[in-house]
Amino acid sequence: MPAHLYQQLSSRFPAREKTAFETQDGVRHSYGEVDAGAARMAGALAALGVKPGGRVAVQVEKSLSAVLLYLGCARAGAVFLPLNTAYTPAEVEYFLTDAEPTVFVCDPKRRESLADAAKAAKVAHVETLDPSGHGSIVDRAAGMPATFADAERGPDDLAAILYTSGTTGRSKGAMITQENLASNARALVECWRFTDKDVLIHALPIYHTHGLFVAINTLMMAGGCMIFLPKFDADQVMSYMPRATSLMGVPTFYTRLLQHKGLTKDATAHMRLFVSGSAPLLAETHREFFSRTGHMILERYGMTETNMITSNPYEGERVPGAVGFPLPGVSLRVADPETGAHLAQGEIGMIEVKGPNVFKGYWRMPDKTKAEFRADGYFITGDLGMIDRRGYTHIVGRGKDLVITGGFNVYPKEIETEIDGMPGVIESAVIGVPHPDFGEGVTAVVVRAKGAGISETDISAALEGKLAKFKQPKKIFFVDDLPRNTMGKVQKNLLRDQYKTIYGG
Ligand code: AMP
Repeated sequence: MPAHLYQQLSSRFPAREKTAFETQDGVRHSYGEVDAGAARMAGALAALGVKPGGRVAVQVEKSLSAVLLYLGCARAGAVFLPLNTAYTPAEVEYFLTDAEPTVFVCDPKRRESLADAAKAAKVAHVETLDPSGHGSIVDRAAGMPATFADAERGPDDLAAILYTSGTTGRSKGAMITQENLASNARALVECWRFTDKDVLIHALPIYHTHGLFVAINTLMMAGGCMIFLPKFDADQVMSYMPRATSLMGVPTFYTRLLQHKGLTKDATAHMRLFVSGSAPLLAETHREFFSRTGHMILERYGMTETNMITSNPYEGERVPGAVGFPLPGVSLRVADPETGAHLAQGEIGMIEVKGPNVFKGYWRMPDKTKAEFRADGYFITGDLGMIDRRGYTHIVGRGKDLVITGGFNVYPKEIETEIDGMPGVIESAVIGVPHPDFGEGVTAVVVRAKGAGISETDISAALEGKLAKFKQPKKIFFVDDLPRNTMGKVQKNLLRDQYKTIYGG
């Protein structure tokens, strides 16, 4: 098997005329066109002086040209470095300075505001690409041949650097190799039964591992088709379901679909698979989706550094609130966060993983890399979880979200699950905030259902006797919505900041 990601994908491409992407204007782009488009992009990058191993930073809106740019990087052996479109020029300057790309591609509208950042980082070429897929990099590619001799790459060579969202401290560049991506795509094709008959509704952003690698690599590895939408819109997604087979989403996709009156068994009859990941899917959402559609959402777990780690089974029980079993070739264990001692089944601890999916380390941060790997090669994910009797993995939260109150560990998920199950509650987030006596005080932030009158006293009373006293929230606040980032993750750091003075600690 070739080591090169693109060769692994292209060696499995179906007939050249088969559709790979369909854009929202109804235009279909065949595998042959995509292959030629990627060759042209690779040619353009090589002509700009991008060498194998050189970086290409990209901050653009989602478009088919942006996918061709990604695939062009793969063909040229360049390291693709996608940046969240929300990053400010100051943040972009940090990434460019840190990664030293040869080429930076940005939206023409932002070219001027990013010029100083590119100059400060001594980027040799700034190119453009707009949301409709036009720009200087596309013009350059248009003049290039439709074939390209793919650069030689080994399994350990870098394919991408993805900066982690970094809610604390500096963002770190996760170095993702050719084989990290290829092995994960192969595993997902197998586990989720993707074939060239599949049509995936692609409504995720493509600067993140989920939309970029999980969706695109997996579908291309299977020779399937993607309906490529600029963003998630419930009406639009519903309108494609009668001829699509699958959807990959973050939990908010599913809560929004549940608010759509058109979501029925009939409307989803042509679909075979709904996947959720990137943030916890509420068990309630899972159950409600099943009762409305007859489909059990398949929840999986992964992260930028490790690609996908576990998945609920395709056949077999998909357990609400659990993330399933390790993918083929992936090893997962739970360890004591302090000592690293391996913990028994059922015990909560740090999730550690090893396998061909696990990244090579953080770009130019050897000390941080060393600190996050065990001596035997396991990566310390930062997620706390446990393995149940049947081998399903459960995530109880990020290690940094653990609340330590009066010396006791409190796992927010346990309290959130109790509160979420109360009538009149949509969802909740439990955080620890400074407390003069306890170190941290357990605090709940709750979203009520429309018109529901459930009060702080009601919630506290319902938790009495269910949870040990130290786990019960000392204060409960009500909000209209929890703050979330674009991948649907609740931003607990913002909540901790907002409520940091409530106990006068
Ligand atoms: P990212 O690197 O942005 O993909 O974020 C990875 C983190 O998202 C993981 O370390 C988990 O904390 C969280 N995550 C991803 N999938 C799930 C899931 N199915 N359930 C709970 N948390 C998840």
